[in-house]
Amino acid sequence: MLEKFKVKTFGCQMNVYDSQKISEIFFDLGYKNTFIDQEADFYVINTCHIRNKAKEKLYSELGKIYKIKKNRNKKNRNTIVIVAGCVAQAEGEEIFKRAPFVDIVVGSQSYQKLPHLIKKIKNKIKNKKFVELDFEPKSKFDHLPKNKYIHEVSSYLTIQEGCNKFCKFCVVPYTRGPEYSRSVKEILNEAELLVNNGTKEIILLGQNVNAYHGQDLNNKECNLGKLIYILAKIKGLKRIRYMTAHPKDMHDDLYKAHKNVEKLMPFLHLPIQSGSNKILKAMNRNYSVEEYLKIINKVKEFRKDIVFSSDFIVGYPGETKEDFQKTLDLIDKVKYVQSFSFIYSPRPGTTAYNLKDNLKESEKKRRLSVLQNKLRFYQENFNKNFVKKSLNVLFSNSINEKNYQSLGYSQYMQLVRINNKKDMQGKIEDIKIKKSFYKSLEAVSLN
Ligand code: SF4
Repeated sequence: MLEKFKVKTFGCQMNVYDSQKISEIFFDLGYKNTFIDQEADFYVINTCHIRNKAKEKLYSELGKIYKIKKNRNKKNRNTIVIVAGCVAQAEGEEIFKRAPFVDIVVGSQSYQKLPHLIKKIKNKIKNKKFVELDFEPKSKFDHLPKNKYIHEVSSYLTIQEGCNKFCKFCVVPYTRGPEYSRSVKEILNEAELLVNNGTKEIILLGQNVNAYHGQDLNNKECNLGKLIYILAKIKGLKRIRYMTAHPKDMHDDLYKAHKNVEKLMPFLHLPIQSGSNKILKAMNRNYSVEEYLKIINKVKEFRKDIVFSSDFIVGYPGETKEDFQKTLDLIDKVKYVQSFSFIYSPRPGTTAYNLKDNLKESEKKRRLSVLQNKLRFYQENFNKNFVKKSLNVLFSNSINEKNYQSLGYSQYMQLVRINNKKDMQGKIEDIKIKKSFYKSLEAVSLN
């Protein structure tokens, strides 16, 4: 009987991409995937350090896995427990002390070593634990499986990793290391493989995706704008998106790509974090609100119908009522159509960790709620605009119950649902919208 693996993923799109790669390592070794905890001979947790209490979440998850491992042991079935990702990178061997039943700890830049580690474990080096935490992004991408086992209509493709910006609240520069860009050749090969396997949309990923500076096909430095032109030539690829962009790294080729490359979707996630220059400076974001707004206007000049989303941190140490009001004013100016917003929470290891917190929790919650209501207002209004109008939707998912229910995304990244007799998976169509909601839209059925 084939041995089975399960990968549980926490966190961002980059972690989702990494988890797919980890799964492909297992497929390449001949293992089978399972979604049932008790069936997993290999249980991988791919951790994320961005959200609050990441460490606690890992150990609480490990508590559940320990019970599973114990139960399976009673039936003479072994479970190899693997902790991967950013918390693995940050915690390292510490994980074995708190959870001695973990077998392998592997950082976010060294999971390509899993085949080797699995082989060692399989060779029964009794009670031996393995830890790999090197920052070797080049070697990681070089050694990942070249075969494709997961087929998706919309696929992530990591082109850049790590960050040199050191925003004071962020752990990424410590857990993912310095900026690294893959070569155009490597990216092109992976993109073509995805498209040959049914992908219609590629979402280019990077912690600082627009800081991309990989080597082009003539051994010269490329940038994200130029890369988009190259990828757009792939026949069969219908849509391109990128995330997460940093305002400081917007560049002329990228602005031009928004104008000239039809496949580049008119939706840009451009985090600002705060609308106050004082707070932006305290965060070490390296741009002012005025500069940010200039960028927004410039992108709009190049692509008239582009819409924006952003990230906001509420209650950063030192944030006054006036600072918070400035964030609300900025939202009124940009009218974001989607956003992620959180109360600031200090992350161990970051420079902001020891800053004095001047705000009561209740006030932070109040500010978050005010901010989210405003964001909701703009998102709902934006969605309402499309009732009785058409949106271009790529359907990535279909559930066949009595009829099909298909889910897809519009060019503006709105979730669209349609109930149909027809299976829409993989189709891109102009669809008339019937109803709008806060976070989604319902389309008129086609039959
Ligand atoms: S730009 Fe700032 S927030 Fe983004 S990954 Fe780098 S350090 Fe973190």
